[in-house]
Amino acid sequence: MHFLPTERTRARRHPQRASYDADVIFAILDAGLICHLAYVVDGQPYCTPTAYWRDGTRVYWHGSAASRMLDAQAAGIAVCMTVTHLDGLVVGRSGFTHSLNYRSVMAFGHPGVIADAREKRHATDRFIERLYPGRTGEIRAAHAQELEAISVVGMAIEDASAKIRDAGILDREADLARPGWAGVIPTAVTIGEIMPDPHLPSGLPAPSSVAAYTRGTRLDDVLTAAAIGQQTGA
Ligand SMILES: Cc1cc2nc3c(=O)[nH]c(=O)nc-3n(C[C@H](O)[C@H](O)[C@H](O)COP(=O)(O)OP(=O)(O)OC[C@H]3O[C@@H](n4cnc5c(N)ncnc54)[C@H](O)[C@@H]3O)c2cc1C
Repeated sequence: MHFLPTERTRARRHPQRASYDADVIFAILDAGLICHLAYVVDGQPYCTPTAYWRDGTRVYWHGSAASRMLDAQAAGIAVCMTVTHLDGLVVGRSGFTHSLNYRSVMAFGHPGVIADAREKRHATDRFIERLYPGRTGEIRAAHAQELEAISVVGMAIEDASAKIRDAGILDREADLARPGWAGVIPTAVTIGEIMPDPHLPSGLPAPSSVAAYTRGTRLDDVLTAAAIGQQTGA
């Protein structure tokens, strides 16, 4: 599947770094957990960081039923969602050729609130499962009041683009012989030491739903594997 480049998604700057391939776009979305949602209310732009998840060609986010952001978006206003992974610092031989390696997505649509209680429960369970496969079977089901206290918003991706920089330094030929260091410093978000809740009986092992979160593992790898498992039903 391909998203057709449109007037708003056709990359003009470094177009060779852009992709409209749904597999590329979904892989970047599935490797992430936090997005930025840009929207305009009464002429004022907002850009709100929040958690999200994907189900097919739709993306979802949630929050307090009293959220001003969700209230505004429930009215079907235009939203631009961005997701960014920083993969490296590129240290060139001139200030101009310092850069960053990254994977990013911009996705456009008009979100709507999920009013149906069953659909809302399904969506929020999917969010938990997307992070911790099998977790909904380990915890109690959400109370109706808990579901009422939140709003869930879903957005069909109308069009989207990915942009990827995965390269070394683009120094000028004339600068290569100059003395001084240059290189790429890879970066990643990794998992720290798990901290069991102090109220747990001592020695209780962590459940299989969090087994993938081992110290030093890349978070984007864990999220990708969980998303693949969820999308394929594995
Ligand atoms: C971590 C990170 C750091 C960056 N740092 C800089 C920086 O310091 N300076 C800078 O100029 N640029 C930076 N960029 C690139 C920046 O995101 C834009 O691609 C670039 O500024 C061109 O913007 P534009 O509006 O002229 O793009 P245009 O090419 O006019 O954008 C047209 C369309 O292309 C698509 N597009 C453009 N950029 C992206 C993207 N990043 N991801 C997905 N789709 C995209 C969108 O659909 C957009 O609507 C960075 C990107 C990332 C992810």
